[in-house]
Amino acid sequence: MNNRKFHSNERRSFTKTSAAHQGNRRNRFNQSRKRRFAGKSIDITKFVNKITAPIAEEKFQSKILFADFPLDQRLKINISKQGFKSPTEIQEKTIPLILKGQDLIGLANTGTGKTGAFLIPMIEKILQNPREKLLIIAPTRELALQIQEEFRKFCANLKINSVVLVGGANIRPQINLLHSPHNVIIGTPGRLKDLVNRKKLFLQNVTNVVLDEADQMLDMGFVPDIRFLLSLTKSEKQTLLFSATLAPEIEKLSNEFLKNPVKVSIKTRDTSECVDQDVIRIQRHEDKIEVLGNLLSENSFQKVLVFSRTKHGAEKLSKALFHKGFKSESIHGNKSQAKRQKALQLFKEDFIQILVATDVAARGLDIPNVSHVINFDVPATFEDYVHRIGRTGRAGKIGSALTFIESR
Ligand code: ADP
Ligand code: MG
Repeated sequence: MNNRKFHSNERRSFTKTSAAHQGNRRNRFNQSRKRRFAGKSIDITKFVNKITAPIAEEKFQSKILFADFPLDQRLKINISKQGFKSPTEIQEKTIPLILKGQDLIGLANTGTGKTGAFLIPMIEKILQNPREKLLIIAPTRELALQIQEEFRKFCANLKINSVVLVGGANIRPQINLLHSPHNVIIGTPGRLKDLVNRKKLFLQNVTNVVLDEADQMLDMGFVPDIRFLLSLTKSEKQTLLFSATLAPEIEKLSNEFLKNPVKVSIKTRDTSECVDQDVIRIQRHEDKIEVLGNLLSENSFQKVLVFSRTKHGAEKLSKALFHKGFKSESIHGNKSQAKRQKALQLFKEDFIQILVATDVAARGLDIPNVSHVINFDVPATFEDYVHRIGRTGRAGKIGSALTFIESR
């Protein structure tokens, strides 16, 4: 496998140009968003980032314990039941500010605990004042459901209820849920808007808003929807915005939704330091699926998330791998929500080795112990790359990311 990889000398010769590319990032970002598939313009060196230092020693270790935070005792018990002793860096820096009522932009690498950073102080606020209402908006249905799952763990026995409102699922049960008492609404922009238009969802009591994976939502043409939804909420409210990436133009846009926000950025580099990154060169005569199959047969490729550019491609690839004898499933926008959820569950619970996905699975999903992320197709933008490979190397664990580069 090693001889396929980028030769380190070759890599060195590329790094010089890297800084210039960084400077042009904003430009490139704009351009690449306009073209549907501009991934080939991403500097290949950006896909190579070997883990060198023993990162375990460098890892942030908070001196504080959750027990030291000014939080309700019952909430502290639930946090500790999740196995969280100390806050991660983003949690340590943001939780006190959020508890003070500050609007905030939280930037930290993938897999560093951003969900807890907003859920914990928000739950504390609700415990202090049951009239607080929280609206969490996320770009994908799977992420919305995952946030609710984590929320429920933090809220065990606290009698704080949540409702998830996402597309692809029957709207009736969601409307019924809205009739029962709840402090928290978690949803995707399209379904939230739909329910507002049907006069089933009223947001005038919302006192707190969280935009998770904010840049994706602001970038994907959801700005009018988000503007609309937030215009219905209380003008006196606290708004939080979290992401692992935030291009400058998106950050500017986000200021429209926040009041004098503080920005807390933990990022020292673009990608998670826990992900070993390399490329696999595919020669002209080689069959990509064959190469992938050979890799997947190696022992270390225990739990692999493979990204494909298109829905059709993801389906085709998953079937091809299945025919080769691999336990593989796919997740993409052409599948029913039930099937998407089922595939994700099978992968999460280790019933299958491989999940082939489009970028619908690139954002926010916390799947335990993904050993490898493979970009079978180059991502459209560098931000997409960061999020894709962020599905591995989470919560301090080490992961690998490989990007297929086709010789022309
Ligand atoms: P992000 O949103 O930054 O990508 P997540 O909120 O999904 O990251 O968290 C990544 C993983 O880290 C999750 O499995 C979560 O349970 C775990 N985690 C979060 N905070 C802590 C903590 N303080 N201690 C231990 N594990 C944590
Ligand atoms: Mg997240």
